[in-house]
Amino acid sequence: MMTCDLSRLTLMQMRELIDAGEVSREELVRAALSAVAEGDEVLGAFLEVDEEGALAAARAADNTGGQTGGVLDGIPYAAKANICSRRMTTNCASYMLADYRSPFDAKVVASTGSAGGILLGKTNMDEFAMGSSTENSAFHKTRNPWDLDRVPGGSSGGSAAAVAANYVPAALGSDTGGSIRQPASFCGVVGMKPTYGSVSRYGLIAFASSLDQIGPVTRTVHDCAAVLDALVMRDKRDSTSTSHPDSGRFSESVAASGEDLQGWRIGLPREYLGDGIDPRIREVVRGAADGFTGLGAEVRECSLPHTDYALPAYYIIASAEASSNLARFDGVRYGMRTEGESVLDLYLNSRGEGFGPEVKRRVMLGTFALSAGYYDAYYLKAARTRGMIVRELEQAFSDFDLLLTPTTPMPAFGIGERVEDPLAMYMADICTIPANMAGIPAISIPGGRVDGLPVGIQLMAPRFADERLLRAAAVYERVTGDRGANPSCPGDVPTEGVCDR
Ligand code: GLN
Repeated sequence: MMTCDLSRLTLMQMRELIDAGEVSREELVRAALSAVAEGDEVLGAFLEVDEEGALAAARAADNTGGQTGGVLDGIPYAAKANICSRRMTTNCASYMLADYRSPFDAKVVASTGSAGGILLGKTNMDEFAMGSSTENSAFHKTRNPWDLDRVPGGSSGGSAAAVAANYVPAALGSDTGGSIRQPASFCGVVGMKPTYGSVSRYGLIAFASSLDQIGPVTRTVHDCAAVLDALVMRDKRDSTSTSHPDSGRFSESVAASGEDLQGWRIGLPREYLGDGIDPRIREVVRGAADGFTGLGAEVRECSLPHTDYALPAYYIIASAEASSNLARFDGVRYGMRTEGESVLDLYLNSRGEGFGPEVKRRVMLGTFALSAGYYDAYYLKAARTRGMIVRELEQAFSDFDLLLTPTTPMPAFGIGERVEDPLAMYMADICTIPANMAGIPAISIPGGRVDGLPVGIQLMAPRFADERLLRAAAVYERVTGDRGANPSCPGDVPTEGVCDR
């Protein structure tokens, strides 16, 4: 088996080979590095790769026999560029932080490291996580591995592309309004936003703190659960972090998830299948609903009439929080500085040059929404709307175990197609935003194809029912057999655990 083939293995397959002593951690890291070297000049998933650091970590683990019991022992992974790591820059794909080196590791980097994971590189994203196509990166564009003329989605587009291109079996992303799930859908991989508060945001450069959540991008649901096992834990340094009832048990529970979904009640909210959703996507979701019925679940249509208000309310709340969070980038304390005649000039010059157009748009929108005289009309109204969405979803979960929807209203669009039209770009998140507004867990798994491009289906569950979500997704995945195979690297993800070396 060539080294490139090793990088195609899933996380669980790598786990087996390492545990059986059939492959070394160094071989896996080398395979990932050569896959990146081969493909990433064209794909552009990474902003930075730490070849030396990753190899050194792998060798050290090989020498000591690794992290006993560490779920991610020896597994190469990538992290989005807004997640702080001591190694490499944490630049949020912004000129503002172009050379920024964090003096500490984010909690998720530390805990992934304690579980034995090996950080290979930092992935491209929309600047400060604002966007849906990764085209807002200040540095370069990322292409979709399924069709190089299309976007990978965003804002965690680099993470999704890196996993879909079989560079690494897992990557971390952040999801404020859909930024893990939407690119996962466009790239044909699994992406999950866990319950708000279950993964520490310590060391995640904040966009909208009441909505931001870190989560995994992987090729299988089982791999997603394995990463979650390393991520979900209470952390005192994030005041919104809470302990999770199923912490450390996700992978185990997915492995034991069985063959059917007998007795499960799944709601199919009508509002997610209406205008604005590509009819071919509706077909995919209806097909998935039949799939769930075939597994024994009871699938029924339902109605969530406030769904339409989620998007406008989100853009007020997220922008308001962003305008406040991004105030720290003043040219004095962090990142780039452009001098001026006065302190005010220094602020204006640094922010003027450091931020790209979408970030400026959000800061202006947010500042406006919070300004005296407009606060009640915009921010307060949006906050109330959010409350209504929360209650409506809570109500729905008294009738259903899960909700099934599209992840995105359309398949991956062309590079350049929506950059001039912010509203068209914002529409890419209509299906994913409600879960952030309500803090509930949601996952996107490959659901089918439209014009040969992958599209995801989304499952949502009540707060802290992440385990339920994963179990249902795992059963569905096992039966449909769609595991995010990537056509631009010929061949499928190997299904046998052991390769013939
Ligand atoms: N596309 C949405 C936005 O631009 C969501 C971004 C995200 O989840 N980080 O705000």
